[in-house]
Amino acid sequence: MYGIYIHIPFCIRKCPYCDFYSVPKESDLCSRFLNALRNEILSFDPVEADTVYFGGGTPSLLTPDEISDIISLLREHNRITEDAEITMECNPATVDVDQLRGFREAGVNRLSIGCQSFQPDLLSHLGRMHSADEAKQTVQDAKEAGFSNISVDIMLGIPYATPNTTKADAEIALSLGIQHVSAYLLKICEGTPFSKGVPGIPSDDVQADCYKVFCDAMKSGGMHQYEISNFAVPGYESRHNLKYWECGQWLGLGPAAHMSTGKYRASFPGNINIFLDRFENGPAEDPLRYFRYEGHVDGDEYIIMGMRTDSGISRSVLKERYGQEFTKDQEEFLAQCEQHGLIEQDSDTVRLTGEGYLLSNSILSELI
Ligand code: SF4
Repeated sequence: MYGIYIHIPFCIRKCPYCDFYSVPKESDLCSRFLNALRNEILSFDPVEADTVYFGGGTPSLLTPDEISDIISLLREHNRITEDAEITMECNPATVDVDQLRGFREAGVNRLSIGCQSFQPDLLSHLGRMHSADEAKQTVQDAKEAGFSNISVDIMLGIPYATPNTTKADAEIALSLGIQHVSAYLLKICEGTPFSKGVPGIPSDDVQADCYKVFCDAMKSGGMHQYEISNFAVPGYESRHNLKYWECGQWLGLGPAAHMSTGKYRASFPGNINIFLDRFENGPAEDPLRYFRYEGHVDGDEYIIMGMRTDSGISRSVLKERYGQEFTKDQEEFLAQCEQHGLIEQDSDTVRLTGEGYLLSNSILSELI
C-alpha cells in the first residue's frame, strides 16, 4: 500500500535554520504550481494509497478550496482508501478557525502544527515568525475546527535551551490535549544563516539531557515513544511516517519531493522552475525520468530506519526481503550492546532501548 507525499514549496519567509525547499508565495506562481501539480498527479500510474501527507514549505498557505481540489483529484486518479490518513503541516499564525474548518471539510483529518517551542525567547532565538501564544492558539483553533488527530512539532537543542525549558515545552504540549508530538534536534545545515554561526547552541551533553528530559516527560504524560523522535497516544502513530521507517512505498509529488518504490529511492530537484518546466504543459509520459536516483533500498537501510522505531527490526524480514543476515562480528557487537542495556533482542527482533536511542548514531555506524 502506497503513501502519497506532496511538497507545497511556499513559505512566508525563510527561517534561518531551515534547509527545506521553499520560495515566497506569489499568487501567479502558486496558480502555475497548482496546475503543474495536477499534471504531475495525472502523470503517474494510479496507486492504492492509505496515507496522504501535505508537507513543505507551509501547506497551510494554500486555501481550503485549493487543498480540496488536490485531494479530489488524488481520489479520482488513485485508489485512496476510505479511512486514509490525510495530514497537512500547518504553521501557527498562518490560519484561523474558519480556514482550519475548511481544511477539515476538504478531507484533511490530521494536522501537524510547527510550534517548535512555547518559550517566547527561544522562539525568537530560532527566528520563528509566530509567538508562543499564537502557537497555543492554533492548536486550540484546530480542536475547535473539529480536528481530533493533532500533532505538534517541538524542536530540541534550540539556542539557549536547557533541560528546564525543554521540560516546560513538553508539559505545555501535553497540556494542550493533543495526540502526537514530534521532537527533532535542531540540525545546523550548510547554506543556512545558522551555518555561519549562531550563539547559544547547547553542548552535546546538554542536548542529550534535554532529549532524556523530554522523553521522560512524554512517558509520564501517557505518550508512547514509538520512534526515536516521535510520541503518540496509542493508536495515533503517524501511519504515513511509519512508511518511511519501515522502508515502505510512497509517491513524492512537487519540487524537492522524495519517493520510494520500496526497491529504490528518488527525488525531484528542489527547484520550482524545473518543476514548472516539466509539468506545466500537461501530464508527462514517463515522470520518473525527471527524478534523481537516490540509492537502492537494501538491508542496511532497513536496519538504519527500522532501529529508529520501538518495534525494531526483524531478522527474518532482513533475510526474506533483503537476502541479508547479521555476520558473526555483528552478532557479537549486538550481544555487547545488549549487555550494556543499549539494545533488547530475541531470536527474531532487535530494538534499541531508551539508553540506546541516545547513542543510536554510534551504535548504527558501528553495526553497519
Ligand atoms: S516555515 Fe518551516 S519550511 Fe518554511 S522556512 Fe520555516 S522551517 Fe522551513
